[in-house]
Amino acid sequence: MDNFDVLVIGGGPGGYVAAIRAAQLGFKTACVERWLDPAGKPALGGTCLNVGCIPSKALLDSSHHYEFIAKHAAAHGITASPELDVATMQARKEKIVGTLTQGIAGLFKKNKVTWVQGSAKFASPGEVVVSDAQGKETQRIKAEHVIIATGSVPAAIPPAPVDQDLIVDSTGALAFTEVPKRLGVIGGGVIGLELGSVWRRLGAEVTVLEALPDFLAAADQAVAKEAHKLLGRQGLDIRLGARVTEAKAARKQVTVSFEVDGQSETLKFDKLIVAVGRKPNTEGLALDVAGVGVDERGFISVDERCHTGVGNIWAVGDCVRGPMLAHKASEEGIAVAERIAGQKPHVDFAHIPWVIYTWPEIAWAGATEQALKAEGRKIKSGSFPFMASGRARAMGDTDGFVKVIADAESDAVLGVHVIGPNASELIAEAVLAMEFGASAEDIARTVHAHPTLSESMHEAALASDKRAIHF
Ligand code: FAD
Ligand code: NAD
Repeated sequence: MDNFDVLVIGGGPGGYVAAIRAAQLGFKTACVERWLDPAGKPALGGTCLNVGCIPSKALLDSSHHYEFIAKHAAAHGITASPELDVATMQARKEKIVGTLTQGIAGLFKKNKVTWVQGSAKFASPGEVVVSDAQGKETQRIKAEHVIIATGSVPAAIPPAPVDQDLIVDSTGALAFTEVPKRLGVIGGGVIGLELGSVWRRLGAEVTVLEALPDFLAAADQAVAKEAHKLLGRQGLDIRLGARVTEAKAARKQVTVSFEVDGQSETLKFDKLIVAVGRKPNTEGLALDVAGVGVDERGFISVDERCHTGVGNIWAVGDCVRGPMLAHKASEEGIAVAERIAGQKPHVDFAHIPWVIYTWPEIAWAGATEQALKAEGRKIKSGSFPFMASGRARAMGDTDGFVKVIADAESDAVLGVHVIGPNASELIAEAVLAMEFGASAEDIARTVHAHPTLSESMHEAALASDKRAIHF
C-alpha cells in the first residue's frame, strides 16, 4: 500500500494541473492516469492534449494555411497552387501532441508528482485500487485527499452508432487519413463547426445537421447570426431543426435520414461525424463505494468549492457541472489544491471565456444581450466592425465585429462578444476588464497600440457611448 497526501484521478487539464499545484504546495502527490496513445504508450494530458483542444487546433491551423494559399494568397500578390499531403499534416499533429504530453511528464518529474499508470477505482473513500489495461490489480493507494478529474467522453445517439470507420466521433474525425468527398456532421456545436471547418477547408462538401432551430443558441444572437452567414458563405451547409432518424453504414458510405419541419430527407456521406455533446466519464470508478453522488445527468455532485460533500473527496473539470472547457478544469484544479492547503482561492465562473476556433474565430465572455434583456437589465452596447480596422484591412481579414455590452447606468462591462480574426486572443482583454470590474469607459480610456486588432475592442467600448471615432 502506498500513501500520499493528495491523489488525483485523471491526468487531463483538470487533474495534471491540480497535481502540480498540490505538489508545489508541499503535498506528497500522485496522479493516476490510464490513457494510452495510438502506439499503446501511456500518456498524460487527457482529452485536451490527446484528442481535443491541441490536435484540433493543429489541424485548424494547417487547414487554415491550406485555404489561405488556395483562395486568398493571390490577393496578396502571391500565386501558388497548394498540394495537400494529409499524412504529413496528421504526422505534424501527432508530433505536437507527443511533445506536449511528454512535456507534462517532464513537469511531473520537476514537481515530484508520482505518475501512476493505470485505471483507478475506489476501494473506500480514502483508498484506490489501480489496475492495468487488462484489468489486473497493480497497486493500492491510500490518500488523505482525493481529487477526481476523470473528464468526459463523447455522447452517443441511438440513430447513429459510432463505428470509428464510417461513423466517427471527434476522435475519429481528427484522424481521417484522407479528405472525405462528402462529410456529414450531426451537431452544429463547437466540435461540429471546428472539425467541419477543417475538412471543408481541405475540400470536403460538409453538411451539418443541427437539432435545434437556433444556430449557436448559447452565443450572443448578433454573433450567432453573423457566424451563420459567414460559415454558410464559406460552404458549410448548415441545416437547423434537423432531427436525425437513422444513419445506415454500408460498405463505403453512410445514408442519413432526417426530418426538418416534418419533411423527411436522405443524404449520403463518405464519413459521418457525431458531435452531439459529451458526457461525464465516471464509469468503473466505483463512486458508490466512496459514497460520492451524481446528479440526474451523471455529473459528480459538488458544491461551488468542488467538494463532493464526502470526507476529503473533491471533483473538478468535465466530470462536474459547468462548461466543459480545459481552462475551467485547470482553474478548478488549482483552486482545489489551494483549498486543501487551507487557502481561500476563487474561480469566477461568470467570466469564463468561450472560444470557437473557426475562421473568423468566435469568442465571448460574460453575459449575452438576450440573457441580460430577459433579466430585465438596462443595458447599452457598442459594436465595431473589423471592416473599419486598419490592421484587419492590412491582413485581409475584415469579417466580423466586436460588441461590448455595459450596464446602462453604472457603465460596468457585462459582456463582450467577438467574431473576427484572432478573437481567441482579443477576448483576454475583456475577461481581465470584467474581472477587475471595469467600465466601458475604462476600456475606452486605455491606450491600445496602433495598428492592432485590439483597437476594435477600444472602438466598441467608445461605441457603447456613441463616440466611436472610426465608424
Ligand atoms: P479530460 O481531459 O477528459 O481528462 C480526464 C482524464 O482522466 C483522461 O486522461 C482519462 O484517461 C483519465 N481517466 C478517466 N477515468 C480514469 C480512471 N478511472 N483512472 C485513471 N484515469 C482515468 N476545451 C477548450 O477549452 N478549448 C478547446 O479548444 C477545446 N477543444 C476541444 C476539441 C475537442 C475535439 C474535444 C473533444 C474537446 C475540446 N475541448 C476544448 C474540451 C476539453 O478537452 C475538456 O474540457 C478538457 O479536456 C477537460 O479536462 P478534464 O481534466 O476535466 O478531463
Ligand atoms: P456542443 O454542446 O457544443 O454541441 C452539440 C450540438 O449538437 C448542440 O448544438 C446540440 O443542439 C446538437 N445536438 C444534440 N443532439 C443532437 C441530435 N440528435 N441531432 C442533431 N444535433 C444534435 O457539444 P460538442 O460540439 O460535441 O462539444 C462537446 C464539448 O466539448 C463542448 O461542451 C465544448 O465545451 C467542448 N469543446 C470545446 C471547444 C472549444 O472550446 N473551442 C472545442 C471543442 C469542444
